[in-house]
Amino acid sequence: MTKLKEKSPVQTSDNDLVAGLPAADVRRLMQAARTVELAPGEVVLDADAPIKEVLFPETAVLAYVGCYEDGACAEMISVGRNGATPIDALIRGETAAHRCEVQVPGTAKAVPVEAFEALRAKSDAVAEATSEYARDFVDQVMTVAACNAAHAVEERAARWLLDLHDCVPGDDIRITQERMAEMLGVNRSTVSGIVQDFRERGLIATSRGVITITDRKALEAASCDCHRG
Ligand SMILES: [Zn+2]
Repeated sequence: MTKLKEKSPVQTSDNDLVAGLPAADVRRLMQAARTVELAPGEVVLDADAPIKEVLFPETAVLAYVGCYEDGACAEMISVGRNGATPIDALIRGETAAHRCEVQVPGTAKAVPVEAFEALRAKSDAVAEATSEYARDFVDQVMTVAACNAAHAVEERAARWLLDLHDCVPGDDIRITQERMAEMLGVNRSTVSGIVQDFRERGLIATSRGVITITDRKALEAASCDCHRG
């Protein structure tokens, strides 16, 4: 049996926000980080909970979710390898305003919030990257809010799949139709109709628990123009 090797210290991350920082900042951030495996549906932070860690998704995709008294939940925005959660920590909040849960399983780097704050205070590059991401996030939230109110569900579904495609490394998205219905705030039969239509038109392929983007250009054509691309 092979002896397990001692894990070497992590030097970088597949998270684009981290990878875009100067090398010295990446090193400091990753020295404080641990890799976490996130399971689908796992609540990484509940609404009003104190923030202990900043998460930088790598292969995982997280989503901010609004839940209502009748138990129904709907996605507000998803965050993948191009971002970090909770946004509250990035805008200097101490508690999370919204629930954040795992939409697509995978890994993320978790950095204790004190270590993140210390690095941000020391590094202009980290402070600037954080502000830039926060501005972009606000823009996305506004776009999605308008999209949900104004556009047809087929267009929203295409937009949502494109957003998710941007959040994962390849073309496979590990997500069930049930979850997709929840996240789009529509019923399951509406989602299966849309998925079947997209599949017949060659936009996507499906297998158990996975949606594969097979024709991104055509999916873009099927989407409203709210995709942040
Ligand atoms: Zn739209």
